[in-house]
Amino acid sequence: MAIDQEVAFPTLSTHDLHALSERGHERRVRAGEVLYAVGETTARFFVVLEGEIEAVNGDESGTHRVATIGPGQFTGEVSTLSARAALVTVRATCDSRLIELDGHGLLRAMDELPDVGEAVVRAFLLRRQMLIDTGKVGVQIVGSRFSPAAHQLRDFATRNLIPYQWVDVETDPEAEILLRRGKFSPADTPVIIGKAGRYAKNPTIADFAQCAGLTATFTDDHVYDLVVVGAGPAGLAASVYAASEGLDVMTADQLAAGGQAGTSARIENYLGFPAGISGKELTTNAVVQAQRFGAQITVPCVVRSLGLEGGDRIVTLADGTRLRTRCVLVASGVAYRKLDVPRFRDFEGAGIYYAATEMEARLCRGEEAVVVGGGNSAGQAVVFLARAARQVHLLVRGPDLEASMSRYLIDRIKAMENVTVHLRTQVTALEGNGRLSAIRVSDRSGRELRVETGALFLFIGADANTGWLRNCVALDKKGFVLTGLALPPEATDNERWRLAGRAPFLLETSLPGVFAAGDVRSGSIKRVAAAVGEGSQSVSFVHAHIQRPV
Ligand SMILES: Cc1cc2nc3c(=O)[nH]c(=O)nc-3n(C[C@H](O)[C@H](O)[C@H](O)COP(=O)(O)OP(=O)(O)OC[C@H]3O[C@@H](n4cnc5c(N)ncnc54)[C@H](O)[C@@H]3O)c2cc1C
Repeated sequence: MAIDQEVAFPTLSTHDLHALSERGHERRVRAGEVLYAVGETTARFFVVLEGEIEAVNGDESGTHRVATIGPGQFTGEVSTLSARAALVTVRATCDSRLIELDGHGLLRAMDELPDVGEAVVRAFLLRRQMLIDTGKVGVQIVGSRFSPAAHQLRDFATRNLIPYQWVDVETDPEAEILLRRGKFSPADTPVIIGKAGRYAKNPTIADFAQCAGLTATFTDDHVYDLVVVGAGPAGLAASVYAASEGLDVMTADQLAAGGQAGTSARIENYLGFPAGISGKELTTNAVVQAQRFGAQITVPCVVRSLGLEGGDRIVTLADGTRLRTRCVLVASGVAYRKLDVPRFRDFEGAGIYYAATEMEARLCRGEEAVVVGGGNSAGQAVVFLARAARQVHLLVRGPDLEASMSRYLIDRIKAMENVTVHLRTQVTALEGNGRLSAIRVSDRSGRELRVETGALFLFIGADANTGWLRNCVALDKKGFVLTGLALPPEATDNERWRLAGRAPFLLETSLPGVFAAGDVRSGSIKRVAAAVGEGSQSVSFVHAHIQRPV
């Protein structure tokens, strides 16, 4: 813990303080003066030269101190990099002398002063985790742990590393107080309560983002160099490389930065992490890395369509906003397949899950859990869940695991006493009232098994997320995006390509300046490393297109 404090609240060297003074401006503040308030969108960054400032969290019933920042130390956490709503109020505890930098000044200083850049990134990441761990910062979600809608909100917040306060109506006496205070009825739950009187009953994810101050604002006539659709590994890699090479990049994701990889309990085959790395850690680091180079990443932000207007590509969002850009990277990955069994929709988020993260593991602690699928993602989920669940059943349609799962996972699963593998089986029925309570499974001989479980995890493959590209770029028979040499001649036999005077680049779609990378691309290797490689590579084609646009 002592080491964490040193990383979270480092003291900068005299040399770095001097260098920051030259890049910012000095400011004197009086005791009690507020530098920025919770909920305020700000990218301002303060370094204490003399005196002390504090970060406090609270509401009308009182505030409590989250941190104190003394001489040589600085303010901020992850939201400072993206100029999103501040999670705490920052004020002077005594008369103080500070250095103030605006958002651009901070990013520039991080680029130019590597020690400062490293200290800031490490501190911001740790402070965000500390704020999450308190469970007392951010929007309050009041709801039942059995409610799919409440699960969806918590899942969104968890996947995006957004601190929130969970108030369970089943167990937490504060729930009643909050509902009574806001005159909410049980039918209004889940309810979200933000700062400055913001709240929403039965909120959507977009309402939650609004309440938490995450919603991005767009300028009508702005032309980006690159709009990336999808913030999975491919989209994040492209964002990091594009922003670090000076391109003006906006990355939009409908749900969460990290994509599928963000839901992986442990990625063991990604280069450079011999002990493995959790998907959450890998993608959080990538988001902060992209933001420190100036990339904008916005969630939740559903892209509805792609079009052309003059020389620009137009990316239209679900709310009608039109983003104008020179290039687009299609990095929208794949969507999980569902089971074709009656009552499936009744239990999505109420017992049926597509990811096995800490949150889901907690839900099935000491209980029986069922995982469906024969691939590596199913295997990883089994290994992860077996640590929390009493018993894990793995249901596989095929006759063995060898054809679809890596050897190391098969060996690990075989060595686990609380895992049972059921080959040649499939789910035939779901039971429960408002929440999954049991499933029925049958094998090829018609023998039936009933498992009492409140947690069914599906890892049964996925389909390309290309609905938003309707008739805009060429797709293969399965709906994946065709690029480069895989494009049929007729897809490029048109005036636009004649004007371009060149063949499509390796990752270019049938529309010049529109690229595709990662799982969504036809013929790609469906792996994190491949997606990262393609996302990074696409940026060199973006540069080439911008130099000779068509
Ligand atoms: C549980 C699990 C474990 C895995 N483990 C491993 C592993 O150990 N090693 C490994 O190499 N690979 C692993 N994989 C596979 C790996 O995660 C994928 O290959 C990789 O994430 C693909 O990255 P991507 O960026 O192409 O797409 P994705 O990760 O699918 O990301 C696509 C993103 O696009 C967004 N999106 C889609 N449509 C839209 C739209 N219209 N508007 C806005 N946003 C949109 C989605 O919300 C998503 O965030 C695992 C996958 C899963 C599911």
